[in-house]
Amino acid sequence: MMTIAEEISQIRQNLPNNVRLIAVTKQVPVEAMRFAYAAGIRDFGESRVQEAQAKQEQLADLTDITWHFIGRLQSNKAKKALELFQWIHSVDSLKLAQQLDKLAQENHYRPQVCLQVKIESDPQKTGWTVPQLWLDLPNLDRCENLQICGLMTIPPVGLNESEVKSVFDRTNALLKEIQTKNWTSLQQMQQLSMGMSGDYKIAIASGSTMVRLGRILFGPRRSQ
Ligand SMILES: *Cc1c(COP(=O)(O)O)cnc(C)c1O
Repeated sequence: MMTIAEEISQIRQNLPNNVRLIAVTKQVPVEAMRFAYAAGIRDFGESRVQEAQAKQEQLADLTDITWHFIGRLQSNKAKKALELFQWIHSVDSLKLAQQLDKLAQENHYRPQVCLQVKIESDPQKTGWTVPQLWLDLPNLDRCENLQICGLMTIPPVGLNESEVKSVFDRTNALLKEIQTKNWTSLQQMQQLSMGMSGDYKIAIASGSTMVRLGRILFGPRRSQ
């Protein structure tokens, strides 16, 4: 078996320099997170606010970590999420975006966020459909306290490799199309948060700038 450090260095060899490696540490104990930190990881992704808060307290000595929220964000946890995370990848509705914008203004945060899109319909996932996103983009552009940095997507389970590639390619094309419009802030969207343990190589080939890797670094979890 490879150590976490060996896994990380092997994966780094597959990543272009401009792709950010986010270690997804849901259900991963802080001891293993310290190994990942020692191996150079500075970006950690968590999908539950409470779990992240407990870990951040235990890792408070590691002051240069960037924390990424990647899970479904309930509105009653939004304020706490802004306190704990510099990035929120999973903004999945205009309502949530506007709530975060308001909270960010009141509490003087400037969170970096991605808009989660569903390129293919997927009952198991939240996020914008493409037509709904186009309707909401003018209002998102007015969320001045958010730094809307890019798009995030998760392909539905059960797709084959070329279907997964198509989801990632269409997400990339959507980002490019958004960049061509004359929106003040959305023009700056650059990031594509796509790729997990099973599909990150495909995602990189489609222009991913941030991969979110869990199992491939830390081994299997008890459940999703
Ligand atoms: C769990 C999770 C990941 C990591 O998945 P792995 O298959 O363990 O790499 C990435 N993104 C999101 C949104 C997740 O919930």
